[in-house]
Amino acid sequence: MENTKLQVIKGDITKQEVDAIVNAANSSLLGGGGVDGAIHRAGGPAILEECKQIRARQGECPTGEAVITTGGKLPAKYVIHTVGPVWHGGNQNEPELLASCYRNSLALAEENGVQSIAFPNISTGVYGYPKEKAAKVAVKAVREYLQQNNTSLQSITFVCFDEENYALYEELLRDH
Ligand code: ADP
Repeated sequence: MENTKLQVIKGDITKQEVDAIVNAANSSLLGGGGVDGAIHRAGGPAILEECKQIRARQGECPTGEAVITTGGKLPAKYVIHTVGPVWHGGNQNEPELLASCYRNSLALAEENGVQSIAFPNISTGVYGYPKEKAAKVAVKAVREYLQQNNTSLQSITFVCFDEENYALYEELLRDH
């Protein structure tokens, strides 16, 4: 959609009142630290239960792919769990895998009627992806998705937890 709103805010993704928030999960889907821990804590046990059911059906979630659960007690209706790449120096297909996280999350959101979605800065915590490189991949992947798809999404928000990421996204989104 020409007029899908693309924006950045600084804040806590668990507090976002959107249709879906994205979780930077690990392939076990059984929870972890960082934003994953925060989402499971705030959303309550229903999310983990659903993740376990998904695991029982399809096994682990491969890097770059995404699965969806409800949002439990969160303001968001859904959580889309995607598995970012661990940074190994940049020659292990990391940019393509990170771009896939954004693309697959957006596609899964749309399949579920989501109109507003919020992303954390996938892979830039424990997984060690350099923040500036990750921000460029994220913004490019989302922009390309919007160009290539006739989307019904109304808003896409990058929720940055730290000042460095916030400044990077502000700069990247200002250019257009
Ligand atoms: P990964 O394993 O993909 O690197 P992390 O959870 O360690 O995932 O970090 C991903 C990003 O999420 C980091 O930039 C981190 O600062 C950020 N983050 C952590 N907690 C929250 C939160 N509550 N809301 C939004 N972003 C968060």
